[in-house]
Amino acid sequence: MEFRIGHGYDVHTLQDGLPMWLGGIRIEYARGFVAHSDGDVAIHALCDAILGAAGLGDIGLHFPDSDPAFKGIDSKRLLAETIRKISAEGWKVANADITIALQAPKLRPHIDAMKAVLSPILGTDALNIKATTTERLGFVGRGEGCEVWAVALLER
Ligand code: MG
Repeated sequence: MEFRIGHGYDVHTLQDGLPMWLGGIRIEYARGFVAHSDGDVAIHALCDAILGAAGLGDIGLHFPDSDPAFKGIDSKRLLAETIRKISAEGWKVANADITIALQAPKLRPHIDAMKAVLSPILGTDALNIKATTTERLGFVGRGEGCEVWAVALLER
């Protein structure tokens, strides 16, 4: 058995009046993420971890934000396409772990729903999602944006 580990990181700006898509679900909140896609910063970090592990570059390389085809796209489709790309090289996700830093809203009540949506796309239940605030420090703490780190292990 061959294993590869990858890491992903992404940040998106919060703006009033936009829908908040995070971890594959819609969260009712007065603000959402500015992006070319639906702005799902957690999925973007996860895709980068998976692509990184497979040695396939990054999300911007595969799904450029200059391409109108990806305007407003459901990031779950980007994740599914990422899985298709690594599957083509024989890889499957062994496990993944995501850390979301967001000051508000509280994400704890939404974690199970995120896992229920993302696990079938990943092809494993070995998905962990954690959420933290930054104790009001920095751009996350000021409510200006969301920061996400992800790690994925691939096996083949
Ligand atoms: Mg992004």
